[in-house]
Amino acid sequence: MADRVLGISQELLEKCVRCGSCRQVCPVFNITKEEPSVARGKIFLADMINKGKVEVNKEIADFFNLCTTCLRCEEICPVMVDYEKIIISARALAAEKVGISPEKRAAIKLFSNRKLLETVGKLTAPLSRFFTKSSKSPYNRLLPFKVPKLGKVLLPEIKARPFNYEDRFFPAKGKERAKVLFFTGCMFNNFYSETAESVVKVLNALGYSVLVPKEQYCCGAPAFFSGDLKSFEKMKNKNLKGLSRQEADFVITACATCGHVLKKEYKELPFKVRELIEVLFENIEEIGKWELPEKLKLTWHHPCHIVRGQKIPRNYPLDVLKVLKNAEFVPLEEADNCCGMGGSFKLSHPQISREIQLKKARNIDKTRADFVLTECPGCVMNIAEGLERIDSKVKSLHIADLLVRALPDS
Ligand code: SF4
Ligand code: SF4
Repeated sequence: MADRVLGISQELLEKCVRCGSCRQVCPVFNITKEEPSVARGKIFLADMINKGKVEVNKEIADFFNLCTTCLRCEEICPVMVDYEKIIISARALAAEKVGISPEKRAAIKLFSNRKLLETVGKLTAPLSRFFTKSSKSPYNRLLPFKVPKLGKVLLPEIKARPFNYEDRFFPAKGKERAKVLFFTGCMFNNFYSETAESVVKVLNALGYSVLVPKEQYCCGAPAFFSGDLKSFEKMKNKNLKGLSRQEADFVITACATCGHVLKKEYKELPFKVRELIEVLFENIEEIGKWELPEKLKLTWHHPCHIVRGQKIPRNYPLDVLKVLKNAEFVPLEEADNCCGMGGSFKLSHPQISREIQLKKARNIDKTRADFVLTECPGCVMNIAEGLERIDSKVKSLHIADLLVRALPDS
């Protein structure tokens, strides 16, 4: 059938058999209990629009934005509806017809303009410590006051200099197994550069030489998930140009969303893309020799864009943590539920995002672990904030920041 208003085929929309299974798993529907919050409701609206029976207006655009893109609906769907394709097409049409909200527009502008992000970093980094206080979870800062209706607000620390301020090369320890190109993404480059250092050290210890090219930019996820596909294409083309000049065996990411976007949308990239957790699992025998300096209780949160976006098996991170000496693994209830971040969903729907976040934080708190680990800087940040909000003792950490403590010569 021909493409209609949304630029996607009618067959794609009509695949939904309206069974309602997605209602059982959708974190947003779980709170709102309103049909337009869930995949079935959004697909119905998209179908009406595609048939020309409904015009996109602000109210309908808001319904399309009421989604964390956690893909739980896709996973449970008995007929395997390509929900992500539908929601991105619907948001793209909504962006064209009614525009993108100011907070999303600001986020896209900031992340897609490297010079602007670096200037903000240079200007604000030296002062930020005076206006924030430290958080229990490393590398995060807290506002010194509570925000009405939200409570404690956590911010990552912006850096005065990005991690890839120049082309950088970190040789493997011992015999080189492979040379990898580290796609850092904005969160590691401009905020969590300590974690980027940890990723490099862990890879070097496993025998991988790591190349961090200067010529790489935001993967474009903020624009892509907001439906600003023109800005996304621009970011993608800039990255393709810069990355294609490099020589490496594969590209590695340590951010679930970067990995998901690169694997799914960067088909022209002349390298295979691998997520850090895939490489760690492949080296499980070696990691089994590593020992943490003290006994630690660990639990794991599955990022949506790793288990559903990239379909990486859930046992990979759990098996890695279980072999680590001095580590005791404790399972987390609903470990693969969304943390509530959803990229700019947290900005556009702070109250719903907060409820999802607190549910996650309470489940983590019940484990009484020392650390909740994950492999996405956005999840690390949002979970750290949730744990602060409920005054939990558990700390949120990227898996690379834990493994670096267990390296043989650390
Ligand atoms: S992607 Fe997640 S939040 Fe969005 S409709 Fe599906 S289950 Fe709900
Ligand atoms: S689970 Fe799939 S088929 Fe069923 S209502 Fe949701 S999107 Fe439609």
